[in-house]
Amino acid sequence: MKKVNPILIDTYKREHTYLRISLTERCNLRCTYCMPAEGIQLSPKSHIMSFDEIYTIAKTFVDHGVTKIRLTGGEPLVRKDAHIILEKLATLPVELALTTNAVNLERHIETLKNCHIKNINVSLDSLNAEKFKEITRRDYFDKVYNNILSLVAEGFNVKINAVLIKGFNDNEIIDFIELTKTLPVTVRFIEFMPFDGNKWDIKKMVSLKEILDITTNSFSKEKLIRLDDAKNDTSKNYKIKGYKGSFAIISSVTNPFCDSCNRLRLTANGHLKNCLFSAEESDLLTALRAGKSIDTIIEKAIRLKAKMRGGMDTLEKLKTPDLHSKNRSMITIGG
Ligand code: SAM
Ligand code: SF4
Repeated sequence: MKKVNPILIDTYKREHTYLRISLTERCNLRCTYCMPAEGIQLSPKSHIMSFDEIYTIAKTFVDHGVTKIRLTGGEPLVRKDAHIILEKLATLPVELALTTNAVNLERHIETLKNCHIKNINVSLDSLNAEKFKEITRRDYFDKVYNNILSLVAEGFNVKINAVLIKGFNDNEIIDFIELTKTLPVTVRFIEFMPFDGNKWDIKKMVSLKEILDITTNSFSKEKLIRLDDAKNDTSKNYKIKGYKGSFAIISSVTNPFCDSCNRLRLTANGHLKNCLFSAEESDLLTALRAGKSIDTIIEKAIRLKAKMRGGMDTLEKLKTPDLHSKNRSMITIGG
């Protein structure tokens, strides 16, 4: 196994071998839980990493021991040079993955295959076209659903990400699980998390416990199988006996997985975030453009990583708007 450079190891001995790179702050959807209705203040274009800069920073991390890179956004596939970025990163000795809303995916399937990308996560919060339109503020359900079917037909490993919101799509939990009867995908139910401008309220969140209560009420103990979770997995995995696919729950709010966290995030404007929930950022791009080494900035950022959820180690702290509103909107972090 590749040795991890100590600069990627934090004070709690967590080895950061997984980098998520946001390619853009822009998106062709407007999901209510991800961004405010009035939109966000975009960084000036000149502040966004070019494909060469993305490659240089990614290579630095890979040289230090990163083994997995996931491209995200905003919507990564709205970038005109997304195919060039994918092709360049595919030359690195790293597992490459993608998180997308799949609106424009049909144009990229060949590139994804050529880049040997196997794992693709797609956001889909409702199986009902009208509700999809309501939550994304755009009318693209059919496109997204058909692109998911194409990905499966092409042999990609597809995970569907559904953020659950109480009174909106929690009545679709069983429908989503039933989708896995014939479709070999993993549906991942995500607890709604607080970020700047997303009107988070714990009362709107559907918790791990509530999701499990709904599933155990619908499926017998014999049918509901708890699967092994992979190392550093953020989700708890299940399947229904005899179904082709599986489902999982990501419980960052009620049951966080910080002890085994191996993730770092690079924003589209080249800032390193050591935790999804932390408001702290370290500007790698300015240093790179000034011809300076970014190693010391990376080392310091990782050493400062808090033990849990960017320092919001209790639910009370997480619920405090003053604390979670200091963080960016999810669309500009890269989930
Ligand atoms: N546009 C792509 C997509 O939607 O898959 C990639 C970026 S999106 C920010 C990445 C993931 O973050 C999506 O699965 C989305 O559901 C999730 N996400 C966004 N805001 C969230 C929130 N407030 N709570 C939980 N998950 C959230
Ligand atoms: Fe766009 Fe993804 Fe955010 Fe939805 S979740 S607004 S698709 S970045």
